Amino acid sequence: MSRESEFRFHVADLLAHPGHRRTVEIDSAIDWGFDLSRLGPRLVGELVLEAASGGLVVRGPVSTMVRHTCHRCLTEWDEEVVVDILEALGVPDDPDGHRLHGDVADLEPVLIDAVLLVIPLSPTCRPDCRGLCAVCGADLNGSSCPGHDDEPDSPFAPLRGLFDT
Ligand SMILES: [Zn+2]
Ligand SMILES: [Zn+2]
Repeated sequence: MSRESEFRFHVADLLAHPGHRRTVEIDSAIDWGFDLSRLGPRLVGELVLEAASGGLVVRGPVSTMVRHTCHRCLTEWDEEVVVDILEALGVPDDPDGHRLHGDVADLEPVLIDAVLLVIPLSPTCRPDCRGLCAVCGADLNGSSCPGHDDEPDSPFAPLRGLFDT
């Protein structure tokens, strides 16, 4: 059963009148295409659609929530991600393949690609995050580690470098 996408817009009127524009509101659950629980279920934004250069130009901000996990200390936090969209659909030789389907613009793949592009693959909670102790696993940003980091004679000392990123 196919879902009627809320990201599809009929734009025949725009394509017939280059220079005309229309503003569309986005506030929908989005199908990221795979199990990506760290991205919010909804995408919100306001986009301007305008015919130009034989195709359709889409621009404007969209936002969603993302749950980051620090790759050093595993702390999780939520952050709103705002992406400024600027994409051309259906222009000749469109390198991204985000083509118009007749006079229907399917913005979902365009928006998914744009958002995924700005999500960091290895986020850190802060630039100087010290991560976890390689010996006991304590969060070195706190004080719960009994001090393995200060023991150069520890038999585990050579391992420390392996956990630095
Ligand atoms: Zn961290
Ligand atoms: Zn420790």
